[in-house]
Order: sequence, then structure tokens, then C-alpha cells
Amino acid sequence: MFDVTVIGAGIVGSLIARKLSSYQLSVAVIEKEPDVGNVTTMANSAIVHSGYDPVPGTLKAKLNALGNKMMDQVCDELDVEMKRIGSLTVALYDEQIPVLQELAERSAINGVPVKILNAEETLKLEPNLSKEVKGSLFAPTAGIVNPFTLSVHAIENAVDNGAKLFLDEKVVLINKDNGFYNIICQSGNTYQTKIVINAAGIYSDEIHKMVEPIDYFLTPRKGEYFILDHYCDDLVKHTIFPLPSEKGKGILVTPSIGGTFLVGPSAEAMASKDDVSTDKFTLDEIKRQALQMVPSIPFNQVIRTFAGSRPTPNTHDFIIRYAKCDNHFITLSGIESPGLASSPAIAEYVVNEFVSKVIDLVPNPNFNPRVKRRAHLNEMSVEERNKFIAENPDYGKIICNCEKVSLGEILFEMNTSVPPKTIKGVKKRTRAGFGKCQGGFCQPLVTKIIAEKFNIPLNQVMFQKHDSFVVRYDIKGEKK
Ligand SMILES: Cc1cc2nc3c(=O)[nH]c(=O)nc-3n(C[C@H](O)[C@H](O)[C@H](O)COP(=O)(O)OP(=O)(O)OC[C@H]3O[C@@H](n4cnc5c(N)ncnc54)[C@H](O)[C@@H]3O)c2cc1C
Repeated sequence: MFDVTVIGAGIVGSLIARKLSSYQLSVAVIEKEPDVGNVTTMANSAIVHSGYDPVPGTLKAKLNALGNKMMDQVCDELDVEMKRIGSLTVALYDEQIPVLQELAERSAINGVPVKILNAEETLKLEPNLSKEVKGSLFAPTAGIVNPFTLSVHAIENAVDNGAKLFLDEKVVLINKDNGFYNIICQSGNTYQTKIVINAAGIYSDEIHKMVEPIDYFLTPRKGEYFILDHYCDDLVKHTIFPLPSEKGKGILVTPSIGGTFLVGPSAEAMASKDDVSTDKFTLDEIKRQALQMVPSIPFNQVIRTFAGSRPTPNTHDFIIRYAKCDNHFITLSGIESPGLASSPAIAEYVVNEFVSKVIDLVPNPNFNPRVKRRAHLNEMSVEERNKFIAENPDYGKIICNCEKVSLGEILFEMNTSVPPKTIKGVKKRTRAGFGKCQGGFCQPLVTKIIAEKFNIPLNQVMFQKHDSFVVRYDIKGEKK
């Protein structure tokens, strides 16, 4: 029996669980995937949007502006990389200049600082922009963040503070009996709880329907991307947006926190919630649009393409409320962009405005907001690094050559309260496999480390999803 059960360990569910763990509550998190942050949270632009874009008065506008402000503290406590690099929304035609003015007015209402720059000022900040640029809206508080470690460290912190995480548990049925909810999973396990928080992302509508008919619908809207290697140092220093349209914020060009560059995303309504494939036609169109803004993008430096799917609601705003049938079922739906930027504020909002009204919140005196700090070798001088490696020799053994990830960093993750049990889990936590060879060299080593940690044969190690085994047969000589 739990006081509160969160369904879904994306960034939203993870930060809600962390916030709940700061009170004397028994908290469970149920996640269908073998790892946390495995769905929309790991396939987005990773921008901490400033908040100039959402329509004033909406939940999106309020929680985006607030979430942006909260992000420095959250990232500091959770040892997550974040940089406020600023964004430029560029006008390429004279007739777009009034739109910049409208966006500036919107920003003022949303409480977001921005400045309109003329062509010369814009090109001074970003010399690789098209010489056709007519001006831009500069938003200095926009940032980039590591969405992978943000979600992993948030849930790790919740678990360190007492929350229980249940992976590989797909919720299939929910019923209420004797005043308590029974959450029934595909595995046959049932979790009893007083309060349910539905943070199931693109499947939140399906979870909500398990307790009552719903009056909104979600459309999966896929966004495809290119990732460029980190050898194009001077490409752009800010996040470059076109003007927003009814399809969203448009195709952007941005540095990522790992030093690579992202170009995308598209925005196509899909029939399937799970379709995150990429296709040449869409990628060609992304290329065409991106080159209009930044003509020198070196598309010969592409190391990977990927896609994520937004849960776009017909209400055009985040849906955060009690179920109509019961205030012990709290639903979060339609958390599309800027859901990542808003996530710290969403967590506060859910706990302060909804959970606190139905259960007493007594502070947890042992709550520690910080995760165990990782060794940041790239922030050390050569002397500091040599000293550190002499004391911790595993940090001198490089497993991923492209991203310079050591055995020590991977073993550290293996010994946290939420260790990775998939190859992608190691990749998300350490960047091993993120580079040019995309795991070509380090994947066998990572597979072996996981097999040893969980004491399983190599052919039982998964890449990312259930049954995504990379080793097809028994390995000769492997101990069973
Ligand atoms: C292309 C694209 C670009 C974006 N760019 C940005 C950006 O730059 N900045 C920004 O702020 N936002 C951005 N977003 C939005 C952001 O990624 C999302 O708002 C955010 O990740 C949503 O997190 P979540 O936790 O709600 O959902 P998710 O990450 O999808 O988590 C939901 C979890 O619920 C689990 N779940 C689902 N069904 C069940 C079940 N039956 N049983 C158990 N568990 C279940 C899932 O497995 C999943 O782990 C973008 C999104 C996309 C798709």
C-alpha cells in the first residue's frame, strides 16, 4: 500500500516523485520500460525554452517561465549539465519583423526578458546565419540541458529519499475498491495506493480512460532530427529558431550540451504513438528549411538521425487536473513542448495545488535534494585529472573513445540506486556510444559490463527496449 503512486518515469513523473519524496509519504513509481526516461524525455531538442512563445494565460506560459527559472537550482542539486546559451528567433523577410514585435509583447506578458535585434546585431552574434537575415528576437535566458541525466538523476534522488521504483511494469487496468486504487500491471502484479498520479506521457490518455471517459484527445506528432558531430565548433552558439507557426516552434539549429549539434524537428501527425522512425523525405525537408537559416550546416558531419513523438492535445495547453470522478486521481496529459523546460514547475504545481489538497504533507526531515556527485574529468586540469586517475585507476581506462568515457564512470553508474540495465541506459548516463562510431567500438565492452553487474549471459543484455538483445547466440566459453 502506497500513499502516492506515479505512473510513468519520464522527466515529469521523475521530478514529481522527487518532490513527493521530500515529504513523509510512501511513494511508488511504475514504469513500463526497462529504464527511466526512455520515451519522449530522451528524444527532444533539450532546450530550456525561455517562455516567450506560449500564449499568455495558459498553463504552458506560466509553467514554462517558472520552470526555466527553477532549472539552475534543479540542475545544480541533481548534478546535471545545463548552459544558458540564449536563443535567437530569426526573421528572414521584412514582413516577418512585425511578428518579432508581437512575440516581444507576448514575452513581456509572460515575464520573459527578450530584445529585438536588427540584422547587423544578429549577424554579429551569429556570423553563420544567412546574410538575408532581417532581424531577430534574442532571449538570453533560453538554455540547453542534458535531458538524459536530468530524468535519471531526478528518479535516483527520489529513490535515495525513499521512493520505490518499479521498472518493466506496464499498467493495464486500474480500479478503486474500499477507497483505494488497485493498479494492475501486465506482469500480474497489483499495486495499492491512495492517490494515483498519471504521468504516462503519450499514453496518459489511455491511463486516464482506465478510470473514466475523457473529453480531450492526444495526437502523436513526430519530430525527426539530424545530429552533427562536435567537430563543427563555430556553427552556431545560440539556439536558432525560425518564426513559430501553427505547427510549433519550427526547425531549429542548436548546439547540444554534449557539444554536438541538433537540426530539426519536423512535426507530422501520426497514426501510431510508437512510431519514431525517420525517413528521407522528411529529413530532406528539414535540411532544406535549416539551410535557409544557416547555409553552411555541414550535413556531411551527420552521425545519426532520430525522432520523438509529442503528445499534442486538442486543448492546445497542458492538461493537469483531478479526474472528474475523483480527486485522488491526478492526471497530466498533453505535456508536449515546453514540457522539459517546465518540468520542475510542473512537479511543484502538481504537489502544491493537487496532492496537498487530499493528503497531509509533512516534510521529510531526512530529505537530501542532492545526488551523489559524479567525477567531471572534463572540468579538471591535466594535473587534477592525473592525480584523480592515480587514486582511481578505473577512470584512466577509456571504454568509449569517441566521447572519452572511462570504465570508472560506467562502474559508478552501476552502483547507484537506479543502475542502467540496458546499453542505452549506460549511453544516456555516461555518453558512452554517443559519438561518431555510435557504439561500434564500446558496445561489446558495455554489454559485458552490464552482463557482469546483473550476472546474466551476454545474450540477455538488451539494447533499449524489451527483447532488444544484441547478442543473438550463446558466446563460446562464456560462464553461465
Ligand atoms: C520532437 C520533440 C521535441 C521537443 N523539444 C522540447 C524542448 O526542446 N524543450 C522542452 O521543454 N520540451 C520539448 N519537448 C517536449 C518534452 O520532451 C516532453 O514534454 C517531456 O519529455 C514529457 O515528459 P513526460 O515525462 O511527460 O513523458 P515521457 O517522457 O513520455 O514519460 C512518460 C512515461 O510513462 C511511461 N508509460 C506510458 N504508459 C505506461 C503504462 N501503461 N504503464 C507504465 N508506464 C507507462 C512511458 O514508458 C514513459 O517512460 C519535445 C518533444 C518532442 C517529441
